[in-house]
Amino acid sequence: MHSDVIQRFYFSGQPVRGAIVKLQNSYIESLNGHDYPPIVNALLGECLASTLLMGVHLKHQARLSLQARGNGIIHLLMGEAQLKINPGGELNQHSIRAVARLKDPYDASAEASLTLDELIGQGHLAITIEPEEGERYQGIVEAKAASLSACLENYFQQSEQLPTTMQLITSPTMAAGLLIQRMPAAEDKNSASVAQADNLWEELNTLAATVSQNELLALDSETLLYRLFHEHAVTLSPAEKVCFDCSCSEQRTAQALLKIGVKEVSALLKLDNEVVMDCEFCSARYRFTQSKLQQLGMKFN
Ligand SMILES: [Zn+2]
Repeated sequence: MHSDVIQRFYFSGQPVRGAIVKLQNSYIESLNGHDYPPIVNALLGECLASTLLMGVHLKHQARLSLQARGNGIIHLLMGEAQLKINPGGELNQHSIRAVARLKDPYDASAEASLTLDELIGQGHLAITIEPEEGERYQGIVEAKAASLSACLENYFQQSEQLPTTMQLITSPTMAAGLLIQRMPAAEDKNSASVAQADNLWEELNTLAATVSQNELLALDSETLLYRLFHEHAVTLSPAEKVCFDCSCSEQRTAQALLKIGVKEVSALLKLDNEVVMDCEFCSARYRFTQSKLQQLGMKFN
């Protein structure tokens, strides 16, 4: 069994969908090269799991990112998923990466029990979807909740009117999550069938709430769904793979330097004869001399 997977599921004939995600290697590789305190690692794991849970039902290829920014101990927390859809019917393989910026200096050991809003301080959470084709979308919600899942549930309720339940859990070597989401009812539904859907939604939430952290981390999707919802007809889609992959490149880094401007870059070159840029996500190091930058399109006077 592949250790890094996301699987969609549907309740037959009902306006409720869900997904289960498990990340091991991709989670550990996303944290490699960083030296974050355990609580930040755990939050990044939750970020990565939730970007996939939110993105897996999209109909088109897209990049989905979740960013929390604030004035607290954590200035930036970011998880990003590149969601792939293979038209040929082969297995989709999505990729993820993550980064955090912390207030310096920071004593990790003292902060292990802080809630999300205590860590982020005054701030917000932004969900950005950039489809390969079509318009960019961004939704924003205040980072005013004890946990990331509670914050995202607020977002779906307020901004999308999609009642959503999300459970996120991490261990030092794994991040896992469960999502169930109620879809809008069809326009012509009568009040009896709306009441029926309300009851079902409540029942599914009660059942989903019985999952233990251990079960979410240890059980495969099929066993977990049977354990939770065996009285309902559930269709499970094939598992889609997830890997760590950073989309940085020399070309893109040079583009970023071009945006900084020739004057500033020239000043840096005078100091060191080269400009060194490290990727914040994967720690890849890119070195640029003046002649290399000229080759890449930068025009010096
Ligand atoms: Zn990178």
